[in-house]
Amino acid sequence: KELTETGWNLDNSYSELPEPFFTQVNLNPVVSPTLIMFNDSLATDLGLNSGALQKEEGVAILAGNQIPEGALPLAQAYAGHQFGNFTMLGDGRAMLFGEQITPQNKRVDIQLKGSGRTPYSRGGDGRAGLGPMLREYIISEAMHALGIPTNRSLAVVTTGEPVFRETEQPGAVLTRVASSHLRVGTFEFAARGTGFEDLKTLADYALNRHFSNIAEEENKYQHFLQEVVKRQAKLIAKWQSVGFIHGVMNTDNMAISGETIDYGPCAFMNKYDPATVFSSIDVQGRYAYGNQPYIAGWNLARFAETLLPLLHEDQEEAIKLAQEEMSQFSQLYQSYWADAMRAKLGLFDKETEDESLIEDLLSLMKKHEADYTNTFRALTFDKAEETVLFGTAEFEHWQTRWQTRRARQEKSTESSNQLMKESNPAVIPRNHRVEEALEAAVERGDYRVMKQLMDVLSHPYAHSAEQTEFCSPPPESEGPYRTFCGT
Ligand code: AMP
Ligand code: MG
Ligand code: MG
Repeated sequence: KELTETGWNLDNSYSELPEPFFTQVNLNPVVSPTLIMFNDSLATDLGLNSGALQKEEGVAILAGNQIPEGALPLAQAYAGHQFGNFTMLGDGRAMLFGEQITPQNKRVDIQLKGSGRTPYSRGGDGRAGLGPMLREYIISEAMHALGIPTNRSLAVVTTGEPVFRETEQPGAVLTRVASSHLRVGTFEFAARGTGFEDLKTLADYALNRHFSNIAEEENKYQHFLQEVVKRQAKLIAKWQSVGFIHGVMNTDNMAISGETIDYGPCAFMNKYDPATVFSSIDVQGRYAYGNQPYIAGWNLARFAETLLPLLHEDQEEAIKLAQEEMSQFSQLYQSYWADAMRAKLGLFDKETEDESLIEDLLSLMKKHEADYTNTFRALTFDKAEETVLFGTAEFEHWQTRWQTRRARQEKSTESSNQLMKESNPAVIPRNHRVEEALEAAVERGDYRVMKQLMDVLSHPYAHSAEQTEFCSPPPESEGPYRTFCGT
């Protein structure tokens, strides 16, 4: 049969969790599914038959009109701190089909976003607009190409039904692939309402799924916390190193796996400024670029709190253990960040003054409003004259320090140059480019701009001639960029 030929190999381990963690849902079919974007290489990696999936029956699955063989559609329950306030949540416009077991024996969630109302929808329509779904597709795939852990995008299908937000837009469904959708918020949900046994079941499930190497250890929950802290520290360091701003780092948008999830009003920074905020709803700047490491720490503290009952019978002891692990975060983050930044400056080894060398460059960039990506790109190709920093005495002084520092390493100049090329992307998904691509797609049904952009973004470290026109920052006339929540 056609369906088995599509290559689905679904398991439903999440559905074996206790009852409060999810609700089984029915499909909400849409009138006229049309496949807009399809990620061929990802489909192949997943063991899916690309050809069959792009035909009518395959597209019906990607639209949420049909259930793939072996699926058990469900909406996940979770809670979360949104801008600091605790709320009960859940998949209000998403649906998990199950976990695809790939030919490499990896287990990944297959989730539709924009697939209609669920018991967690509250007042929402359960739907998503084409613009935001394409945006998530572009940015998540760009993040993957940049080497940053992220959920992936398999497909976007338009529904043939409009959605009504500030304006009317075509409705769309995005198929997301993630190593799981277990969130800090999933644990907050368990800690606040399901009782000790269910919390333990959830923690064991997460341990087995993501940290099977420590699942048998004696103090496994402490190790679990330690590993989640470590992965988040690594992730945020990577975000900072490329200038990525998530925009809505609520605890429900932070994955236990250490992948970037829930792309909404995210965007990349142009001029270096820690205060950069793009999201229109983030009026306080809580999720500004420079705040992301602190917010990650704050979110992890909420996570640690949920684990207290598991860490030790004596809650005072549990608090001590949690604090011990949490106290590692800023140090871990700082060292991953410094490693990433050293690589951007072509430095292999560590010296105590490296961090001030990095910080001093960043302060100059802030002072002179230098473009973050292009400054590092110029340094990589020894073209400092192309930056606004050039010609200032402070920068010349900094450059001398940097060159002296580089010359002190044992590794050759060539390998240092190579390290810089591999660590400094030529292209990032610049906001004005993303907007231009989305406008062509959504307003005019022209997908060429987007496909060309995605092509360039799929090799961010190629530094090829064709990429040059995609490297320019937005024109000065454009004014501050604003992103709107992913609806
Ligand atoms: P997000 O901002 O996408 O992380 O979503 C926060 C919460 O609002 C999640 O529980 C979503 O499922 C829910 N939500 C967002 N948009 C909608 C919508 N259009 N309909 C129903 N629920 C939604
Ligand atoms: Mg249930
Ligand atoms: Mg979310």
